[in-house]
Amino acid sequence: MTLQDLDRLPELLLPWYQDNKRDLPWREIPAEPYHVWLSEIMLQQTRVEAVIPYYHRFLEALPDIPALAAADDETILKLWEGLGYYTRVRNLRAAAQKIMEDHNGIFPSSITGIRALPGIGDYTAGAIASIAFGQCEPAVDGNVLRVITRFAGAMDDITKNSVKQQIADGLRSIYPSGDPSGFTQSLMELGALICLPNGTPKCAECPLQNACSAHRNKLTDLIPVKKPKKPRKEEKHTILILSSKGKIALRKRPEKGLLASLWEFPSLPGHLTKDQVSQHYPACRHWQRGPEAVHIFSHIEWHMHSFTAESPEELEGLQYFSPDQFPAVPSAFKAFLPLKK
Ligand code: SF4
Repeated sequence: MTLQDLDRLPELLLPWYQDNKRDLPWREIPAEPYHVWLSEIMLQQTRVEAVIPYYHRFLEALPDIPALAAADDETILKLWEGLGYYTRVRNLRAAAQKIMEDHNGIFPSSITGIRALPGIGDYTAGAIASIAFGQCEPAVDGNVLRVITRFAGAMDDITKNSVKQQIADGLRSIYPSGDPSGFTQSLMELGALICLPNGTPKCAECPLQNACSAHRNKLTDLIPVKKPKKPRKEEKHTILILSSKGKIALRKRPEKGLLASLWEFPSLPGHLTKDQVSQHYPACRHWQRGPEAVHIFSHIEWHMHSFTAESPEELEGLQYFSPDQFPAVPSAFKAFLPLKK
């Protein structure tokens, strides 16, 4: 891959960023590492507009690293409820605990110290190092890969680690030492607002248009090149919304694997009939069809049917909650949640 003309990026992007950047709550001057870190973790797989209320709520409840390190499971899961990917918030707390133990509660500023924290990969480490600590470290995510491969006219497969690495090295060599934070954010912002995916980039508004190879050669529909993903596996489940005396039953998922250790509704594999489910739970009565839902994870799809039923007593092995005191439940199950009174 030839990454020519990358050295023109800072002069073209920095003035554009100053004039066009969105006013986002974590874009403070000076940047607070805890805030940059939290926003980056929340923004993985979630849109900016959806993240903002979560971000404020989280910081209100856990305003600093010591508070996060000391928070219990139910608190952090409740604050994360709806964002999905609960491992992220558990890793946030584990990293906060490591910062308390190994760094006297002060966020480490070296790229190796940041990268060693749980849940922080190359992208997030680069984002924190450059935005919060002014270091010349690139943060290469899908947006940045798209901008750079289009700019350079590179037809290499961006799902390959070697391509990612080449782009990171190329960027590191041209980082402007005067404003690493602005440069990282200008690349992110261009990818989010102008150099859009799926053949819809707004080249006419782009500060890179005169230097961009994909634009010049009409290749924006073909770049970035991505190897097609494997199709997702489909699983069928029958979700059971079992109540007793106004309370609804949940159980904990296994400690390992998808949605580890989180609350879920009891369920049975496959799409079962009323007769089939009632045989599994003979103490329950008044079986009725409930809502259906599909939830898409990165590698798996759940196709869920459901039944509701009641039992006079609480069933063994399940824990019952009144709708007002429902714990955090993954968004995969949101179609089945009780309405709060
Ligand atoms: S000119 Fe078009 S394709 Fe090139 S970086 Fe700008 S928006 Fe992307």
